[in-house]
Amino acid sequence: MTFNTYLAPVGTGDLTGMTAAELAEKIHSREISSTEVTRAHLDRIAEVDGQLHAFLHVAEDRALAAAEAVDKALDAGEKPASALAGVPLALKDVFTTTDMPTTCGSKMLEGYLSPYDATVTKRIRQAGIPILGKTNMDEFAMGSSTENSAYGPTKNPWDTTRTAGGSGGGSSAAIASGEAPIGIGTDTGGSIRQPAALTATVGVKPTYGTVSRYGLVACASSLDQGGPTARTVLDTALLHQVIAGHDSYDATSVDKPVPDVVAAAKKGADGNLKGVRVGVVKQFDRDGYQKGVLDNFHAAVKQLTDQGAEVVEVDCPHFDDALAAYYLILPCEVSSNLARFDGMRYGLRDGDDGHHSAEEVMAISRAKGFGPEVKRRIILGTYALSVGYYDAYYLQAQRVRTLIAQDFAAAYETCDVLVSPTTPTTAFKLGEKVDDPLAMYNFDLCTLPLNLAGVCGMSLPAGLAEDTNLPVGLQIMAPAFADDRLYSVGAAFEAGRG
Ligand code: GLN
Repeated sequence: MTFNTYLAPVGTGDLTGMTAAELAEKIHSREISSTEVTRAHLDRIAEVDGQLHAFLHVAEDRALAAAEAVDKALDAGEKPASALAGVPLALKDVFTTTDMPTTCGSKMLEGYLSPYDATVTKRIRQAGIPILGKTNMDEFAMGSSTENSAYGPTKNPWDTTRTAGGSGGGSSAAIASGEAPIGIGTDTGGSIRQPAALTATVGVKPTYGTVSRYGLVACASSLDQGGPTARTVLDTALLHQVIAGHDSYDATSVDKPVPDVVAAAKKGADGNLKGVRVGVVKQFDRDGYQKGVLDNFHAAVKQLTDQGAEVVEVDCPHFDDALAAYYLILPCEVSSNLARFDGMRYGLRDGDDGHHSAEEVMAISRAKGFGPEVKRRIILGTYALSVGYYDAYYLQAQRVRTLIAQDFAAAYETCDVLVSPTTPTTAFKLGEKVDDPLAMYNFDLCTLPLNLAGVCGMSLPAGLAEDTNLPVGLQIMAPAFADDRLYSVGAAFEAGRG
């Protein structure tokens, strides 16, 4: 594997090192074909995925067929179906697809074929984007390292002894290594932003309700949000534009126009941050974080100031309680959502040998199909929701959630965006935290408040930490429905880094 310098250890071939915007331009002008581009990425997958394990399923024939269809249409003089038509993509294995399995990284759904496409899948196909395959993830999106995948972990392309993050480590590793130029993740507590930070890529959690959850296998429904990831802010914006927008199939989908994130990314590229008020969240800039991460963060804040931003410190006192609230609310929702995997309706069934009752078959199937972290959260959630504990745990956590949302609202009275490091340390070693759930949970510290409040955020590369020589992510946060601010400020920061 070739490790280029920062921004990312991309592929050896030119095509796998290009941005999606560049590829799209060349494909649409017929300088190159989508088939060539898709083939190059499939070759890159064949070359490196044995080491990385970013993909659970590679759909070579279907990806090439989709690419050929795009080429044919363009050759016939049709207009490209979208700004990204012909550019191939890596899809997290939590979105349903009718033509390849959807496993959610779980034995419970091994080989499961959905009868319908998720709305996000459908929009990707309609946009003429070939799907290279489905990417690895922590089981049902629970985890911070992809080590909870029943199919084995994804490795970080920057250092294959380390995690690429989670739960969407597969998509991020694929993008960082040149296996794919763009990808889709889901972010329930940080699963797009956190792996992006650890792999020096860009990842966005859009405002809750702005990307359809229809066909996104639920982890925690009030927190889950699909979103784009890529190597540049503009590429991420182009994909955001494809997947966002109202969907009547999702009851929590918001019927509002999508802000023009592409225009925002283009505007931000001038690097000018004059008049932008940036708040540094005091709670996420403190001792206990890795020194190299804090040094990079402080350098990033200085860069924002040099680019004209007005930087102030903001106090969000309830962010300190986000971890406790999240790890109550999430298991409660998980315990309810995952009840459907009962051996009767989906996937794995065991013990159905004529000697067991229906209840026993359910218990045997669930015991066999779910991994330890999923079981831990189902038990925790069931306990917290039970009579007598509901008020003390679940309701209390929901109150904290409101306080966190109020902290954000107060901060946005004086700031346009907030910033923090995305993670407290750079990528940790595989195996380092897997037997210590609390240490794993703690790694999510900086990303969780956004999901609890339903607001949006981006992680983008902020250089390599001096003490570990590994990528650090800068997190930019914006108010609900102001996703375009992430892109304008993000693109400006990216331009400022040169
Ligand atoms: N790491 C967090 C968790 O384990 C977030 C997961 C996610 O965003 N899907 O719940």
